[in-house]
Amino acid sequence: MDTVATSLLERPREVERLVAGQPTRDGAGVKLERVLTQPLQRRLDPFLMLDHFSSDNPDDYGAGFPEHPHRGFETVTYMLLGRIRHRDSAGHEGLVSDGGVQWMTAGRGVIHSEMPEQRDGRMAGFQLWLNLPARDKMRAPGYLDVQGPQVPQFERDGVTVRVIAGESHGVAGAVQRAVTEPLYLDLHLPPGARFEQPLAATHNAFVYVYEGALRFDTGCQVLTGRLAILANTPGSDGVRLTAGDVPTRALLIAGQPLNEPIAQYGPFVMNTEAELVQAVRDFQAGRLA
Ligand code: MN
Repeated sequence: MDTVATSLLERPREVERLVAGQPTRDGAGVKLERVLTQPLQRRLDPFLMLDHFSSDNPDDYGAGFPEHPHRGFETVTYMLLGRIRHRDSAGHEGLVSDGGVQWMTAGRGVIHSEMPEQRDGRMAGFQLWLNLPARDKMRAPGYLDVQGPQVPQFERDGVTVRVIAGESHGVAGAVQRAVTEPLYLDLHLPPGARFEQPLAATHNAFVYVYEGALRFDTGCQVLTGRLAILANTPGSDGVRLTAGDVPTRALLIAGQPLNEPIAQYGPFVMNTEAELVQAVRDFQAGRLA
């Protein structure tokens, strides 16, 4: 397959660095792997965080994420398995389950809860934090959910591609964003299958393998639970991924960097310390609710 298939790319990107997720707990004790951690925020601008949760033990997820605030960015929850209900102080409510996406724009601030609606079985998925440009950080909050069957999906050379955001091979994703132009793909590859995605060399990009293994033309292997940061080599035109000998699933995420200062204090992500102080004051004064 990999020798005869025509190639879209002349200069695919290489892996700059492999990163292992950090086991942690968040919310009211939800067990997860923090894959994109704070020290990578500048390198992977406009993405601020990626968490992967996957457990069939209700003790690992049952307590969920009770009411907490956010300001200045967007949270994108992609459920592989299980059910989570979102409620926020701007009046939005929604339930997403298997394959669905919940896209919340915190903007100037919301208080929300993200609670599992299952008492047993496996709960698995991801939460990605996408930064907002400075000019949009204090915009009105927003909320959108897209149920699993409505997430655009296509098949190419045996690879199933779910397009959560952006555009891939002519298929527009569930969500589009100006400025950061996020691309968010969930790829399901049979053993040995190959997938190519054109990418602007200036966009920051990474691949996270959550099942199986991927290899690059250079021979670099990306195993389960590893994030590969893709080099922004000038003149590179995309990424070429080949599955190992087992069925493989991976996220491919890319976006245009904002190149603006990043200031974070827990659930608030602004551009300056003064804006963080203001966010905490506004929260304490009840101005986010
Ligand atoms: Mn949250």
